Amino acid sequence: MSSIAESLASVKGTILEAARDCGRDPSTVRLIAVSKTKPSSMIREAYAAGQRDFGENYVQELVTKAEELRDLPELRWHMIGHLQRNKVRHIAPIVHELHTVDSERLAEELNRRLSDEGRCLPVLIEVNVSGEESKSGCSPHEAAPLCDLIRELPSLNLRGLMTIPPFFDDPAESRPYFDRLRELRDSLGGPAKLPELSMGMTDDLASAIAAGATSVRIGTAIFGARSPRV
Ligand SMILES: *Cc1c(COP(=O)(O)O)cnc(C)c1O
Repeated sequence: MSSIAESLASVKGTILEAARDCGRDPSTVRLIAVSKTKPSSMIREAYAAGQRDFGENYVQELVTKAEELRDLPELRWHMIGHLQRNKVRHIAPIVHELHTVDSERLAEELNRRLSDEGRCLPVLIEVNVSGEESKSGCSPHEAAPLCDLIRELPSLNLRGLMTIPPFFDDPAESRPYFDRLRELRDSLGGPAKLPELSMGMTDDLASAIAAGATSVRIGTAIFGARSPRV
């Protein structure tokens, strides 16, 4: 087994255990392998080991990798980084799901581009639950009007909510932020209307699963530590 295949197997084991610990069916938790800053060769290795969903944060990097990996027919790209309106046209043809819609203007631009292509894109609303100024995402009270707007846009399929909690040394401290995202989802129509909760990264994936995560976004535990972005 390659080291990436081993890491993937180990992350899947962690997901299985975390789901069992809270009485959830592990198949309801989707693993998104976050490959930002890592070379396409590593994505190929993960794909060879059966991984299909990959997350990227930066538009140019996503575009380059999508080109390099065009030959992998089942690979699904998730855009999980902040998206500027003027970059929408670059990712619209590539991305399978977008986790970071955070404004009406972005939603409208996406809808315009996608309708030109005749596509309907699954999207999540990124919510800045902690209110940290450094974070993107809409505020919790902006989520309801944004939901209403997206539901009116024919080329966007609203699937759920996404969040990134503040950084803590003790990952258990992320839990209240995950709970708040789930409670917000429940106030916006519940799982029938918003089935997806995208939350949980390498360090806090177990508490995210306990709080109801349906997608966990895991980078470091699969691909190793990242060097700081320059
Ligand atoms: C980088 C990143 C991740 C993965 O983080 P790890 O701690 O490496 O697992 C998940 N979600 C988002 C939005 C990220 O930017």
